[in-house]
Amino acid sequence: MLRGLMQEHPLLVSSILAHAAKHHPGAKIVAATPDGARERTTWPGVQQEAKRIAQALARRGVQGGERIATLGWNCQHHLALYYAVSGMGAVLHTVNPRLFADQIAYILEDAQDTHLFVDPSVLPAVTAVADRLPKSLRAVILMRDAPLPDLPCEVLTLDALIAGEDGGMAWPALDERAASSLCYTSGTTGMPKGVLYSHRSTVLHAMAAVQPDVFALGALDVSMPVVPMFHVNAWGIPYAAPMVGASMVLPGPRLDPASLFALFEEEGVTASAGVPTIWTMLLQWLRADPARRFTQPPRLVVGGTALPVAVTEGFLKEYGVEILHAWGMTEISPLGSVNARKAENADWDQDRFLAYSRKQGRPQFGVDLRVRDAEGREIAHDDLAFGELEVQGHWTAAGYFNHERDPAVTGDGWFRTGDVVTVDALGSIEIVDRAKDVIKSGGEWISSITLENLAMAHPDVQLAAAIPVAHPKWDERPLLVVVPRPGTNPTPESILATLEGKVAKWWMPDAVEFVESLPMTATGKLWKAELKKRFKDYVLEKDTVR
Ligand code: AMP
Repeated sequence: MLRGLMQEHPLLVSSILAHAAKHHPGAKIVAATPDGARERTTWPGVQQEAKRIAQALARRGVQGGERIATLGWNCQHHLALYYAVSGMGAVLHTVNPRLFADQIAYILEDAQDTHLFVDPSVLPAVTAVADRLPKSLRAVILMRDAPLPDLPCEVLTLDALIAGEDGGMAWPALDERAASSLCYTSGTTGMPKGVLYSHRSTVLHAMAAVQPDVFALGALDVSMPVVPMFHVNAWGIPYAAPMVGASMVLPGPRLDPASLFALFEEEGVTASAGVPTIWTMLLQWLRADPARRFTQPPRLVVGGTALPVAVTEGFLKEYGVEILHAWGMTEISPLGSVNARKAENADWDQDRFLAYSRKQGRPQFGVDLRVRDAEGREIAHDDLAFGELEVQGHWTAAGYFNHERDPAVTGDGWFRTGDVVTVDALGSIEIVDRAKDVIKSGGEWISSITLENLAMAHPDVQLAAAIPVAHPKWDERPLLVVVPRPGTNPTPESILATLEGKVAKWWMPDAVEFVESLPMTATGKLWKAELKKRFKDYVLEKDTVR
């Protein structure tokens, strides 16, 4: 082999911040505080705070690989912690404050965190598990000044922690394969599992995230991750933005449409990312008053669950706002696919592409996808056949923290996502279900998501969930559980009529049940496992299988 004569430098998280601080000192970092004020800093300012935290942690004896947890919103201190902890060689473990107490206690124990940084507004999440904090935990540090709670370990404020530090340190040269951060899956089935990212995977993921067909970020952008920094590293934006020298707006805990719109307008946000609920609520709020217009329409990215086409259409046609539909998961850092145009559909008119935007799209370089059926054969790319989506790539998990050999990874090294998809002739995937949620009737699969989407087109339906109920002959049959819109009283027949003719006869739900609300997970997803438990003993009145 003739070796290339190029320099080699490890791909390190700290090098991203060092670049931004050196070459983009003019970009602004704006953080909305819990009381609605705004704090301002710069990339050099973030780096100064990060280095002071790193110095303080080193002084406390924190070692490489040690897990340091956070429970907080999108704020500048959380951003500094992203770089302080990974940059010094420890592992940043972001915890979702909306998780149930049992899950928080389990996650802290599983990760064996030694320090926990907490935003005072979410302290109740810590005090609720005060008697179950792991023995490994040496200190709880409040990210901003507040009365110190009584906990069975040392408690101090961030200001006190870094008071004696001057930020005069150089980032250590680590191995790029070293762990940089840890994030637990939502745990809709069983307890959450930890995904342990490396410096290398994080930097490569950020390089992919800034590309034109993904977040399309540049130095002139003002990027606002609405997706929380505890939800898969805010989809990589805290790394992607400084990589290109973009400005950042951190919205804090207030994610209501009025607060977000004020940030979009007053801070000149050009690019943002969040889950469907956020954008759906923003669209409804904008429509309530014709005076609510964007001076400069931002670009939005959506993922986490599918976004109804009606929302994408409303934003584009009424407000000139383009929404990119992306798919991902904690185990893949999270970027997996994006539905951006390519040569094959470049000339489609607006309406044709809008209808297509329901799909999750195609992988970018760095991710490869394969879809196999129950027998392990790759499915036809005909938009009809279903199979389980598998992923391979530079930022895809090879196993879980504390469970290195997990059945989620196939013998030939593909990560099994548990998402059931179709693939079309252009190579675009469309998620039709989670593998554990498909309804298996007489050995054939029924997509619960298809039934739900059709039911939600009914004007009186606010939310719908299709779940399997036991059937003596067909094993499982679909039951549709519906939350009616307030003030309406739809009948089962009228709801079933919206599905009639749009799905095969044997896909039609056997019954419709009305409920006041549906169980949701801490990340805002429908919690089907819980719903299935509630309807475990449901008996269908008659054998309606056609
Ligand atoms: P999480 O790891 O909590 O981010 O959840 C990942 C899961 O969310 C994926 O496996 C999908 O089931 C779902 N998901 C993510 N993005 C989308 C999307 N654009 N459309 C539908 N489901 C999605």
